[in-house]
Amino acid sequence: MNDITTKPKACPAEMTIRRAGTAIGRAPEGISSAPFWAEMLLESESEGENTVMRATVDPSVITHWHTHPRGQFLYVLSGVGVAQRDGGPVEELRAGDCVWFAPDERHWHGASADSAFSYVSIQAVHDGKSVHWLEPVIRQGERS
Ligand code: MN
Repeated sequence: MNDITTKPKACPAEMTIRRAGTAIGRAPEGISSAPFWAEMLLESESEGENTVMRATVDPSVITHWHTHPRGQFLYVLSGVGVAQRDGGPVEELRAGDCVWFAPDERHWHGASADSAFSYVSIQAVHDGKSVHWLEPVIRQGERS
């Protein structure tokens, strides 16, 4: 397993193939209701560059509230997911759906209660970061 906390400073300077399955790691603690798998497909800390990851999430696991400084594009690969922007309804997501979260829009996403969920997400870097983590989500009728 790779240490996904060690990030390259920029995207590669030339054509680069990252072979399937070589970048899978555990997402960091403290960003979701339980750990999930994160495959870092493209990493950078350089202004404006894209980062790309594939996430695989167990049923009922959801992220904490967070924002992306340059927004986030999310493409659902499999399973049933849920997502919510601050002040909006909880939306169900299925394979083939895609979601755009606007820059600095507070939101969370994760797996539905009875289905695993996987997706690819793209989020660009601003001030060295592509995400800012906030507090845990407390859903009506349950604690996260
Ligand atoms: Mn997000």
